[in-house]
Amino acid sequence: MTETILAAFEGNPYFTAGFGLFGVGTALALFRSSFVHGARLARSRLLVSLEIPSKDKAYPWVLHWMSTSPTTKAWSPTLSVQTQHTRHDNGSTKTEFGLVAGPGTHVFRFRGAWFMVERTRERQMLDLSNAAPWETVTLTTLSRDRKLFPQLLEEARVLALEKEEGKTVIYSSYGPDWRPFGQPRRRRPLDSVLLAEGVSERILKDVRGFIDNGSWYYDRGIPYRRGYLLYGVPGSGKTSFILALAGHLEYNICVLNLAERGLTDDRLNHLLSHAPHRSLILLEDIDAAFSKRAQSDKQGFASMVTFSGLLNALDGVASSEERIIFMTTNHVSQLDPALIRPGRVDLREEFGWATPHQIRGMFRRFFGDSDVELCEKFVKALQGRHVSTAVLQGHFVEYRDSPKLAVERAIQIGSPASP
Ligand code: ADP
Repeated sequence: MTETILAAFEGNPYFTAGFGLFGVGTALALFRSSFVHGARLARSRLLVSLEIPSKDKAYPWVLHWMSTSPTTKAWSPTLSVQTQHTRHDNGSTKTEFGLVAGPGTHVFRFRGAWFMVERTRERQMLDLSNAAPWETVTLTTLSRDRKLFPQLLEEARVLALEKEEGKTVIYSSYGPDWRPFGQPRRRRPLDSVLLAEGVSERILKDVRGFIDNGSWYYDRGIPYRRGYLLYGVPGSGKTSFILALAGHLEYNICVLNLAERGLTDDRLNHLLSHAPHRSLILLEDIDAAFSKRAQSDKQGFASMVTFSGLLNALDGVASSEERIIFMTTNHVSQLDPALIRPGRVDLREEFGWATPHQIRGMFRRFFGDSDVELCEKFVKALQGRHVSTAVLQGHFVEYRDSPKLAVERAIQIGSPASP
């Protein structure tokens, strides 16, 4: 019976052709899968990949390095723009555009070896801390060149840190993280901020004493932290001094505004206990969030930080790392005494209206110290007037070519001190 059926098919040309096609199909599929396997095996044996997620510190370094390193020839069909917007102390702004490899595949050569770079962007995943799409950069090269990965990363790191050398990195809060804000700023010499006699020295001595005595705190089990409050009239140099101090100590600075929209007690606590190493934390205009004034920003969005949340964050025990907090306010009388008691604020300094010492110092910085008489005339002209150092700076800039005019017009600045 079976023989009869087989014999019937044997003579059937459709069947023979179908069988043949099936055979060829199977052979091709086998060939393809062994090719894919072979390619995968070859890839795993011959190639090596390094994956850098966007959350990693090295991520921006490598992208930046690829776009600038002279040893690199990046062949980039797609480019992304990274805009840096910097606002200087004098109010001027500078915008720089940096072109880095965009999502896609790129090739470059480093120390004689070829590298393939794939920058991928996950559509489904977001970095929850800043709502940016999750990204990865994967570098692939021949296995024998794997030793070049650490060298490449090191070169990228050195390049990134070179940009920061001699500069102060300013961090601002980004979700629960601190992120560098704009380009690192050139350090401002501490003596370029002219304060009333002894103020600068007192603060510097205290901070130095704190930084140099970590073991004293650890040995006694005391939380290693110190708080400073700089208060006084607007434009008296509080912020400028803290920035200059950070530069002088070779520290960076983390700036936080308590009235910031969406800031919660938890985030505040996290931020204060996870500040980058060697940085001063600056809480600006601390009264804005807790005085009788409404806790809202210009657009009317309220900060959600509570007063007890702030006290908890200041007292936080989460971190054993050193923590230096500077708080500034123009309205010290509006602060709750609980906020400024020792332990939270260990040193306070007033930054007031310009004193004769400051007026003299600023005059000399602008016009040199050859004409002592003119300088004294200027100091005398401002006697009995309230002038902030910021206003003085503006006046000197305006009359920078004519110290004589600066003296003649001195009466135009400031306001009479009330008796
Ligand atoms: P504050 O934080 O007290 O409001 P800022 O530090 O923001 O004051 O100062 C505003 C501007 O005035 C800055 O450009 C700063 O350089 C200048 N300035 C203010 N006070 C001084 C000072 N004591 N010495 C030198 N410059 C000052």
